[in-house]
Amino acid sequence: MRLETLRFGINDPAPHLTPDVAVLDTNTGNLCSFCGQPAGLHAMRIGNAFSCVLCGLVQSLHRTTIDEELRLIWLPEMSQAALNVMVRQIHIDLQELGESVYCDDTPKSSEGMRTVLYTAQRILRERSETIAERLGSSRASDLADALTVLVDRHVGLQNLPWGGLRAFPTGRFYVGGVNAYGKIISSWRGNTEASMKEVA
Ligand SMILES: [Zn+2]
Repeated sequence: MRLETLRFGINDPAPHLTPDVAVLDTNTGNLCSFCGQPAGLHAMRIGNAFSCVLCGLVQSLHRTTIDEELRLIWLPEMSQAALNVMVRQIHIDLQELGESVYCDDTPKSSEGMRTVLYTAQRILRERSETIAERLGSSRASDLADALTVLVDRHVGLQNLPWGGLRAFPTGRFYVGGVNAYGKIISSWRGNTEASMKEVA
C-alpha cells in the first residue's frame, strides 16, 4: 500500500522542544493551528497558537510520558499534519466500533472496518523499524535528547533536514498520570458538547 502524498497548506508541526506548552483542562472549541481539525479536550496552547494533542505532542518531546505517546517513524510520503489527521480519523472510527485505539492492541473481532483500520495502524507503526535502522532508535525521548544537544550548540531546528521523520501517535495521552486519550477522542466526536447539553 502506498500512502498518498498529502499537503494541507496548514502549518506543519516539526518535532521540537517548545518550552511554553500549556495543556488545557477544557474543550476550548478552537481549531488546531497545525492540522485544522477541532482541537478538542486538553488542547495545548503553544505561544499564541492552539493545538490538538496529536500536533502538540510533536512539539512536546520533553514530556516524561512521551515514549508511551509517540513513536518515531519514517514516512516521507506524508506530512506530519496529514499523518495526524489520518490517525485521528482511525482512532475516531475505532472508538465508535468499541475497540481499543492503542496501536499495539488487536481488534476483538474482524467485523466491519476493524481489519482495515488496524492494518492501516500496523503499517504506520511498522515504519518505526525503518527509522530505527536509520537513527538507531525510534524512541521520541532519544530524539528529544539529541535536539537538546543541538539547541545547546545553537543549531536552528527549523533548518534541519527532517526528511521523512514523523512522529506516530500511539493512541495514548497522559494527564496527571492518567491516560485521558479516550475522553479526547470523545470530544472530537462531539460527545462532550452533547453530554453538556444533556446536563443543561
Ligand atoms: Zn492538530
